[in-house]
Amino acid sequence: MEKCLFCKIIQNEIPVKKVYESDKVLGFEDIGPQAQTHLLFVHKNHTEHINEVSQYDATQLVDIFQAIRSYTQENKLEKEGFRVVTNVGKNAGQTVFHTHFHVLGGEKL
Ligand code: 5GP
Ligand code: ZN
Repeated sequence: MEKCLFCKIIQNEIPVKKVYESDKVLGFEDIGPQAQTHLLFVHKNHTEHINEVSQYDATQLVDIFQAIRSYTQENKLEKEGFRVVTNVGKNAGQTVFHTHFHVLGGEKL
């Protein structure tokens, strides 16, 4: 089966600007930023969206949110404020079907 785009990024087959990496989670800059700071946080295990991951292994959501906490506390984002967004399916405009959380900030949204 063809690997999804974010699985290719996780496996270093497509270059990205990484901002956070652990054995479980990768954080990187979005290629089309919608705010001064626009990051994407993904788990290294592939699932399509939040409903699939919460049914399959909800601890992965904890891994992702701990990564977001760690990054945002170390990089002024928590102090200044930030937004977390996740899209599921067509009406939300999901374009990459690997669960991911947008972290937006760096300016007044
Ligand atoms: P979605 O619309 O599925 O919630 O978000 C997918 C996001 O992935 C978009 O904001 C888009 O800009 C970003 N994106 C798509 N392709 C790439 C890529 O090759 N590299 C990076 N860094 N981001 C990408
Ligand atoms: Zn994937």
